[in-house]
Amino acid sequence: MASLGAYVGLLLLGGVALGLAAAAVAGPTPEEYAAKVGPDAKIIPPGELSIDGRKVICGKRPTVLDNKLDDYGAAYPGFLILNPKLLARVSMPVKLWIHAHECGHQYRGPDEETADCFAVQRGRRQGWLTPEGLEEVCKFISPAKGDSMHFSGSHRCEAMRKCYTDREVK
Ligand SMILES: [Zn+2]
Repeated sequence: MASLGAYVGLLLLGGVALGLAAAAVAGPTPEEYAAKVGPDAKIIPPGELSIDGRKVICGKRPTVLDNKLDDYGAAYPGFLILNPKLLARVSMPVKLWIHAHECGHQYRGPDEETADCFAVQRGRRQGWLTPEGLEEVCKFISPAKGDSMHFSGSHRCEAMRKCYTDREVK
């Protein structure tokens, strides 16, 4: 009987895990997310977002501006979230890097290093990320300044410096 109980338990666990995975893929729509945040949240349609006067694009993905987000930025399946209140504290290259990083998640998946690489290569190609700007990004994600879970780790900087000079597009 004990083994039967364990088997049923495992089945249940499997069911829960599958349910969660399906929910993570579907996720909320930008409208659902914004409604949950409240009247503060703003949905910016693709192509209409600018950061410090510079137009930023992430394909056809909209951006939700959310001052209550517990991080500078986040990526949900199908849209980006940025926290304007926190972004106001960092320099322009860092802001643009955060947007590009979250955009990287849209097209390259959940891996942080891959999103970092996508962002620095985009910055180099588009001309907004100089080697000095990259060092500002590195300072931003250094553990000492890490007031954010998402953006910390010095090893990520090493990878980004390599990626920045890599001619091969990742
Ligand atoms: Zn990330």
